[in-house]
Amino acid sequence: MTTSNNIKQLDKEYIAQTYGRFDLALSHGKGCDVWDFEGNQYLDFTSGIGVNSLGWADDDWLKAVTEQAGKLQHTSNLFFTEPSSLLAQKLANASGLKRAFFCNSGAEANEGAVKTARKYSHDKYGAGRSTVLTLVNSFHGRTISTLAATGQDVFHQHFFPFTDGFEYVPANDIQALKTRLEVNNVCGVLLEVVQGEGGVCSLDTEYMNAVQNLCQEKDIVFIIDEVQTGIGRTGTMFSYQQFGLQPDIVSLAKGLGGGLPIGSFLLGQKVENTLGKSDHGSTFGGNPVACAGANVVMDKISPEFLAEVTRKGQKTRESLAKLPKVKSVSGLGLMLGVEFEENVVASDVVVKCIEKGVLFLTAKAKLRLLPPLTITDAQIEHGLKVLKEVLENY
Ligand SMILES: *Cc1c(COP(=O)(O)O)cnc(C)c1O
Repeated sequence: MTTSNNIKQLDKEYIAQTYGRFDLALSHGKGCDVWDFEGNQYLDFTSGIGVNSLGWADDDWLKAVTEQAGKLQHTSNLFFTEPSSLLAQKLANASGLKRAFFCNSGAEANEGAVKTARKYSHDKYGAGRSTVLTLVNSFHGRTISTLAATGQDVFHQHFFPFTDGFEYVPANDIQALKTRLEVNNVCGVLLEVVQGEGGVCSLDTEYMNAVQNLCQEKDIVFIIDEVQTGIGRTGTMFSYQQFGLQPDIVSLAKGLGGGLPIGSFLLGQKVENTLGKSDHGSTFGGNPVACAGANVVMDKISPEFLAEVTRKGQKTRESLAKLPKVKSVSGLGLMLGVEFEENVVASDVVVKCIEKGVLFLTAKAKLRLLPPLTITDAQIEHGLKVLKEVLENY
């Protein structure tokens, strides 16, 4: 008989100890509920950090994935396959961008976006225009280059040397960007509409529009990292669509596969043909099983589905704001951050909620909610009731 303690013991002994895990070993899930090996049930507001967009074991997703695994589990990119071709068409239709490249994670998607921006500039202007600007407090991944792209010093303490050609500008400060762009060595600007790992911080609409205008003016590739915000999370398919933005490249991962590893970067008109044969590749990229799962996710996220995400997000936000010891609520759609009064530590709140059967996340000093997009009103109410009890007794 497997027990939670067996599993924790094996992890301790044999897995690289890079993760601060919750004291919980999960066995199986359905919808927004998940169970440990002793049969205890938990209500999920994490989606595996924004990944299980349809919850656990969605019937249609499960059918598509298992059927595809029985047909072709992998082919290599030397052959054409149906799931990746269909998925690329869906992503182009949903975004207005032209083409997709498929990879396996958010960091890889951002790496590909940066490669594209650099090649676009090199093809057109030659060497010396290769810097990519990102924002202070951003998060773009954990490879050597995407750590360099990440604008938080805590990520830059150990792994030298980092990839050159990344610089940070303060968020929501258009003058700082203007001043920096007086030096003509920038090929791309990369930002998140809502900084997720940075603490669920939304950028100002005017700022994002001004960034886009400056990029257009100076022929700089405008890249939006939608790895966390994309695929319905914020109430539109992509969060930039709520602000009338038209990025040149969009990176995706987390919610796209409904729980299977997949990343993508979408290429707009300006850069649709920048990458040519053998300029980029990935052994696992476009995996048929992952793409079959993603096709179901894309099909389910209809305008009606998105309206529900917006409604449930608004309702959750209003309820959170009324809870004791809550100072502010940030975010968009079902990507929400809760700032507490000084004496309340978010990670302690999470631990106390787990003891009462509800799973939440943190982001910096905030409590973070990224529930499955399919969460019901009754589940939201139950989760917030538990959170309220914990905060009342904190
Ligand atoms: C999670 C995340 C990434 C990194 O994705 P991985 O799949 O872990 O490589 C990049 N950007 C943003 C905004 C993210 O939230």
